[in-house]
Amino acid sequence: MRKYEDEYRHKGLRKKLIDSLRAKGITDERLLDAMNNIPRHFFMDLALDRIAYEDRAFPIGEGQTISQPYTVAYQTQLLEVKPFDKVLEIGTGSAYQTCVLAQLGAQVFTIERQKKLFDRNKSFEYIKKYPAVKYFYGDGYEGLPTFAPFDKILITAAAPYIPPALIEQLKPGGKMVIPVDENETQRMLRLTKKPDGSYSEEKFDSFSFVKMLEGKTNGNGNGK
Ligand code: SAH
Repeated sequence: MRKYEDEYRHKGLRKKLIDSLRAKGITDERLLDAMNNIPRHFFMDLALDRIAYEDRAFPIGEGQTISQPYTVAYQTQLLEVKPFDKVLEIGTGSAYQTCVLAQLGAQVFTIERQKKLFDRNKSFEYIKKYPAVKYFYGDGYEGLPTFAPFDKILITAAAPYIPPALIEQLKPGGKMVIPVDENETQRMLRLTKKPDGSYSEEKFDSFSFVKMLEGKTNGNGNGK
């Protein structure tokens, strides 16, 4: 069987992808450099090797997807990640976004509700490059009260509403980036928590994410 290697071909395609993200309006060079350092094809099925650097989402099993690179860049740029920021990510999925946050120097806590996806990451060699990342199997609607508060919270699935527990777990001055809507497309929101516990809201572009579902599941599809 072929093994995952980061060949010149991959590096070349990756650089082109990064240039296309810049052309689409991503300006954070530290972020673009982080993404240029992470072999996206490692996070996908080997069968997708040839198309791994197209700017689109791909299936990762269990009805879920690895987010489109532009979406990863867009959300991460809005989050304004600084080294040592404590970041909570909801929706580990392939762990690609997780690694982008870790490469930016964040201290990452990430939650996945699908047991199969969570388990798969346990034997994923590449992510050991970021040993400080903490992976949790749980329900993102509840966040991680034991490890709160967080400087930043990133939701990588379509939330029908803003989960109150996540607002609770944000530091005053902290930011949350979350795509919100019950319909097919969601509006990207950036919330900033105020010292009195309320938050201000900024609205950005529309995207289409897989749904943020309640509860956790240990198998069959999206059900609980
Ligand atoms: N960041 C991931 C995106 C994966 S898609 C990547 O780029 O690979 C969104 C992920 O959110 C899916 O894996 C899905 O199972 C997960 N998810 C959906 N609802 C969730 C919830 N309530 N808690 C935790 N994870 C959730």
